[in-house]
Amino acid sequence: MARLKINSVQMKTTELTKLLWQAVNESDLMPLSEAEARLYTVVHLGVMAYEDEVRLGHPAPERRCMMCGVLVSQCCC
Ligand SMILES: [Zn+2]
Repeated sequence: MARLKINSVQMKTTELTKLLWQAVNESDLMPLSEAEARLYTVVHLGVMAYEDEVRLGHPAPERRCMMCGVLVSQCCC
């Protein structure tokens, strides 16, 4: 993983996020356990923070809202 170029890592994290939400959506009829839901949240936030870091070239100063994707200070969800 560490040896991959940044672009392919970025693509993979985006794909991972899609797969995660697909899995979450498909589980509507079979609700996630609290632990599973927490895991998805943590992984999603981690992926979003990582994508910001890749794009900005340094760690993002603030995390983004999971619902709307804007910085939490500007979020009105
Ligand atoms: Zn929001």
